Amino acid sequence: MAIIEVKKVNKTYNKKQVLKDINITFEENKIYGLLGRNGAGKTTLLNLITDRAIVDSGEITINGENVYENDNALEKIYFMTERTLYPEDFKVKDVFKWTKEFYSNFDSKYALELAKKFSLNINTKIKNLSTGYNSICKIINTLASNAEILIFDEPVLGLDANHRELFYKELMENYIENPKTIILSTHIIEEVSNLIEKVIILNNSKIISSDEAEELLDKAYTVSGLTENIDKFISAKNIVNIEEITSFKSATIIGNLTNEDKKLAEDLDLKFSKVELQKLFIYLTEKEEV
Ligand code: ADP
Repeated sequence: MAIIEVKKVNKTYNKKQVLKDINITFEENKIYGLLGRNGAGKTTLLNLITDRAIVDSGEITINGENVYENDNALEKIYFMTERTLYPEDFKVKDVFKWTKEFYSNFDSKYALELAKKFSLNINTKIKNLSTGYNSICKIINTLASNAEILIFDEPVLGLDANHRELFYKELMENYIENPKTIILSTHIIEEVSNLIEKVIILNNSKIISSDEAEELLDKAYTVSGLTENIDKFISAKNIVNIEEITSFKSATIIGNLTNEDKKLAEDLDLKFSKVELQKLFIYLTEKEEV
């Protein structure tokens, strides 16, 4: 069991409130997408969860235990960050050995298999790795850690398309073989939208959505047709985006479609379509901070 509970958490840096009254539960064995624009506070939230930073107020627990200076709780998590925690003089194979010291369930055989798949030379020193291979080394370390909770912060930065594909494939295989809680923090949504079961969107210091990906998408729809008809349909609705070309308009709306809506749309000859996660995310987070 590995449940993370974030309760009433606030965090301020230099008088700027980065996280405001955050409440969220990460259930066990689910894949979460933590989505937000750059600077939304994703890394800050993950740093708080892994006790790399301290909450101003509120509480974060893993299986009911507060994470603050709690090695027992923290060793359930492997957090892949941009920061490199091991000496740069280490070779890749030394990193694997080093990780095993801290994560006794680290699977060395699996790490070597992954290194082969990604064509990562285990005899290369960390300081001589390219940005992409540096990320790959960390990805492998994380996947092989066998921790109950894996957290990836912007994991694919610097990776080419083939390696990104391979990462998503290996992540899914790892999850299917050995279910665990996975948090993928990213602003590149398109690529992860098929992987994630739950979506958490951070915007302006707050969580604006934490839903099953399917449910979130079911809450929004796009309606298109003649401008004058669309205008009749969308009055008093929660519109998140409007696009207009000549006399045609399409509007994206958050809300459930009632039978009345459906009837009206039929009368007005309007068409409905689904919204992609990436687009919905952009609409929901478009407004700049004030
Ligand atoms: P994200 O991961 O979503 O891009 P971050 O959590 O990195 O966002 O940053 C959110 C905000 O908090 C930014 O304005 C950033 O400058 C600020 N911030 C994050 N960490 C620190 C820190 N250690 N010291 C000062 N400000 C910080």
